Amino acid sequence: MARIVMKFGGTSVADLDRIRNVAARVKREVEAGHEVAVVVSAMAGVTNQLVKWCQDLSPLHDAREYDAVVATGEQVTAGLLAIALQAIGVEARSWQGWQIPIHTDGAHGKARVEAIEGEVLIERMRQGQVPVITGFQGLGPRNRITTLGRGGSDLSAVAIAAAIRADRCDIYTDVDGIYTTDPRIVPRAKKLEKISYEEMLELASVGAKVLQTRSVELAMKQRVRVQVLSSFEDKPGSLVVDEDEIVEKPIVSGIAYSRDEAKVTLRRVPDRPGIAAAVFGALAKANVNVDMIVQNIGADGTTDLTFTVGRADLARARDVLEKARAEVGFESLLADPDVAKISVVGIGMRSHAGVANTMFRALAEKGINIQVISTSEIKVSVLVAAEYTELAVRALHTAYGLDAAPAAA
Ligand code: ADP
Ligand code: ASP
Ligand code: MG
Repeated sequence: MARIVMKFGGTSVADLDRIRNVAARVKREVEAGHEVAVVVSAMAGVTNQLVKWCQDLSPLHDAREYDAVVATGEQVTAGLLAIALQAIGVEARSWQGWQIPIHTDGAHGKARVEAIEGEVLIERMRQGQVPVITGFQGLGPRNRITTLGRGGSDLSAVAIAAAIRADRCDIYTDVDGIYTTDPRIVPRAKKLEKISYEEMLELASVGAKVLQTRSVELAMKQRVRVQVLSSFEDKPGSLVVDEDEIVEKPIVSGIAYSRDEAKVTLRRVPDRPGIAAAVFGALAKANVNVDMIVQNIGADGTTDLTFTVGRADLARARDVLEKARAEVGFESLLADPDVAKISVVGIGMRSHAGVANTMFRALAEKGINIQVISTSEIKVSVLVAAEYTELAVRALHTAYGLDAAPAAA
């Protein structure tokens, strides 16, 4: 007997037939003698609609009320799945974040999990009940509902797996595993049987949304065994494991893209100490994350400062920077949301030179201009015009020799 967490994403619970399909899968694991806890996302498209309603009413809405709205999608699916399970003879009960509770900090819209009281879930599972838990939600300070950031049901699943000391955390989704890049963009992407926590963390953080970044971070810290697999087909998935469980280590393991960023340029900023601190301090105070940064040298005591922020934070970033304008003293602010960040990731980079150069050459051959570059120990990222996203990802996938062999005729 094992104790497992089964997490189902939005497309897996997109309508009642799919919810019935999920219930049948859960029943199979229960009948195999396992203790099962289920975590669900909102039905596909629902969270997007809820987010849009908040934005349409007010682009700079109160983040506490945003959470009150967007957390509702998961409540619906948890209740529906509990009903579907009961209908096929499986004892089940729905749980919302506050009922467990899943305690988080007060960073509304991207809250961090602080503690989960897992004992009540363990007790119910021992009694033969399946808890069906809302992903994405938590309970913040002053009893406010919080959400864990987009894609946050993955984090809920991993955090619950750690809290109930589960043997496995199975993430069911609409692809049958983790690929060398998004298989929807590159049909010749290869499925990885295993990937290291480090590489998956880096890939997720640069946009491979198959797993949410913080879920991988937590799985790595708590050594939760995560498997990504299809909720529509019976096939083994991909495992996220320790580096030493991987025998063959390619230089580049995967390529990711993100269209979720926007480029901001502050033109003619005074070139003196304290300016970067004033700009990025103001953004940090407003909870706006900054990613890539470049500063150009100007000739006349001014400089241009270019950086990227989350596209969803662009309105807030503009607002914050306009308010800090007197203190910072820039001449103008240019915002470009039509950009994409393309990244190549691999632990083999630690010991190989020339990885970035292959990237630059492959992009140059396609005539794609690089706007900003950033690197880390196992990653190189470039910012390009959004219209080149697919072309760039495909070109790099080929350049690093990741294309799967064509299927035999
Ligand atoms: P869910 O709703 O189940 O959480 P997501 O849409 O969040 O599903 O994540 C699954 C999607 O991630 C896939 O449909 C695929 O397009 C995308 N994806 C991006 N990069 C990868 C990758 N390297 N491997 C597999 N899927 C990827
Ligand atoms: N429903 C939330 C979202 O769409 C959480 C999730 O699906 O993981 O972001
Ligand atoms: Mg997801």
